[in-house]
Amino acid sequence: MNLTVEFRLYTRLYKSILENRLGLWTSRTGLIVRLMDPDTGRKGYGEIAPFPGFRSETYDQAFAFVNRLCYPIGKPHPPLITPETIAQIPEHLSATRFGLGCALAQVSGEATPSSPTPIGVDHPQAALLPRGSQALEAWKPYWEAGHRTFKWKIGLADPTLELKLLDQLLTALPPEAKLRLDANGNLTIAQAQDWLKACDPQRIEFLEQPLDPEQKEELIQLTQESPIPLALDESVSTLADLQEWVPRWPGIFVLKVPLLGFVEETRSFLSALWAQGQPLDLVFSSVLETAIGRKTALELARPFHNPQRAMGFGVQAWLDPEDGFEDSNPDQIWEQLS
Ligand code: MG
Repeated sequence: MNLTVEFRLYTRLYKSILENRLGLWTSRTGLIVRLMDPDTGRKGYGEIAPFPGFRSETYDQAFAFVNRLCYPIGKPHPPLITPETIAQIPEHLSATRFGLGCALAQVSGEATPSSPTPIGVDHPQAALLPRGSQALEAWKPYWEAGHRTFKWKIGLADPTLELKLLDQLLTALPPEAKLRLDANGNLTIAQAQDWLKACDPQRIEFLEQPLDPEQKEELIQLTQESPIPLALDESVSTLADLQEWVPRWPGIFVLKVPLLGFVEETRSFLSALWAQGQPLDLVFSSVLETAIGRKTALELARPFHNPQRAMGFGVQAWLDPEDGFEDSNPDQIWEQLS
């Protein structure tokens, strides 16, 4: 099969500033790729959406690869490629593997193999709260909209101040609310221990990525001492990371499907564990992708997500539903980028 390949860049403005340990973000950039079978006219779309601070390739690396693929020297544009070209995308370009793999699956009409029963499309979502004291008020509209799980970023300010805010936030939240803390790998071991001492297992569902992904032994040590479950997120950015951690980690894994790699490889890995009676405690979560990437992310997530836990796609406060990137028709998203 010969397919034409094209890409378009996108920049999506956030509705409010997003902060993580790498800084302040007002927008995210990514690539939409399109494969077309010139014989049938059939099209497939995919999204390449690396995210700062995670261990897939960077946006610049993805762009360099896709740009070379789509504009080979001395050949007409768009060039023809084969499925083998996509299968040979290097493993470190895991977000690129996801995007082009999705487009290929669509254009070739591959069926999805069997897997556990999926959770419903209306499964609860955790609502991401703004940083710091803004969270003290921001949870209310989410609560009224039906959210019962909230996520709050920590490790961004003085720990004494943040621990005080945690107390205030737990006092403000109704007792049945669950709170997830996410440190994005930004705590020292001593700080992480202080946080864990302050975490009431009745109120705090889990602490996500307390330490840098490189601190592997320290993460394992910490989870053995912790009164609440710990979750890995940045540590398991790619499928290779996840495969390395599965035998070693007793806690939760937060998975961002668009970073993991070829979606069929991820599905096979998770299906095999499920078939062996060893399902993982998985929480699937957003990378603030467009509707193109999210559709595939949710298709993979629903059968494997821990049904006892909220999903992590409650990011409406950052994305404008009217900016065109939520269109369920990928042709429309593609056209708006021309
Ligand atoms: Mg996280």
